[in-house]
Amino acid sequence: MDNTNVAAKAAPWEKNIRKVVPYVAGEQPKNQNVIKLNTNECPYPPAPGVKAVLNGFDHDILRKYPDPNVSDLVDILAKRYGVDSSQVFVGVGSDDVLAMSFITFFNSDKPVLFPDITYSFYDVWADLYRIPYETQPLDENFCIRKEDYFKENGGIIIANPNAPTGVSMEMSVIDEIVSKNQDSIVIIDEAYVDFGGETAIPLLKKYDNLLIVQTFSKSRSMAGMRIGFAIGNPKLISYLNDVKFSFNSYTMNATAIVAGVASVEDEEYFKNITSKVIATRERTKKELKRLGFVLTDSKTNFIFAAHKTVPAQEIFDALRENQIYVRHWNKDRISNYLRISIGTDEEMDTVISFLEKYLAGK
Ligand code: PMP
Repeated sequence: MDNTNVAAKAAPWEKNIRKVVPYVAGEQPKNQNVIKLNTNECPYPPAPGVKAVLNGFDHDILRKYPDPNVSDLVDILAKRYGVDSSQVFVGVGSDDVLAMSFITFFNSDKPVLFPDITYSFYDVWADLYRIPYETQPLDENFCIRKEDYFKENGGIIIANPNAPTGVSMEMSVIDEIVSKNQDSIVIIDEAYVDFGGETAIPLLKKYDNLLIVQTFSKSRSMAGMRIGFAIGNPKLISYLNDVKFSFNSYTMNATAIVAGVASVEDEEYFKNITSKVIATRERTKKELKRLGFVLTDSKTNFIFAAHKTVPAQEIFDALRENQIYVRHWNKDRISNYLRISIGTDEEMDTVISFLEKYLAGK
């Protein structure tokens, strides 16, 4: 077939298509021999119990649909976080939970508010669902100015700690933002909270307009399994479930359910790997400072760093040529920063010694 002009010329039916500019996920290179510090995965394996349940998984179960209410996973998460099962919603990664939350809770003519520098999926969902939004500039230290969120809005979403900056907020600020926005839903995206941030879960006792979203992808080393969850008051969770059951009853597959339960059962392993990542992060921060980088005080499993003299793009290219993958955005205000996920101690040592040699030659 001759494809000339197919791309250039719009077909008459194209006017009816929902056109979106998709989110661009970090690269997943085929080559396994790279040092992969570009998508904030955990460098350690999931809890041993996860391996055990997957090894023992009876594949005959796959004949049947999974539990649409995902009760086993919902119940164990409720127990782990000290809430009722009616307060927990689970989904296919927190991206799924957040996408469902946008369509469920941000249903107003007024703009949804979120920071100018944050998880770059928020504006994609807003555009996809035709939700009006207004970004609020972070200050020069990449901190939220709470007053920006004290105006009329159709909802608020804040990542705490924020991505890609790693900056964590005081709980008193979140408390004030939620209390001053009783007419809207406030979502706190806590994807990275287990690496030294503070969860807003205790605020659920005070507020019924607060939804907290977390993930198994980072602190539970299960990005490939796709599990995320939300905690909020039962009314919010029930509205979320109504929307979920209007999309797809069986979002969580049978293996994800058993693997997710096994992960939550092993609290000690969870504590162990998160504290290892935190220790490596703090050590890496010191080394990067010594090499002339300026950093935010990241409370996540990544570091956000700019070099005092060498542009981020140059460092990014040099790292990549040497099989070290990090993330860089050519975006206003952050184009001189690199986001470097925390790998194992050995991986971070390799990165530091490469940078030491590279920067010495500059
Ligand atoms: N929120 C933030 C702030 C993130 O950085 C990510 C990871 N890209 C997610 C949510 C989504 O993670 P997942 O879908 O793997 O749970």
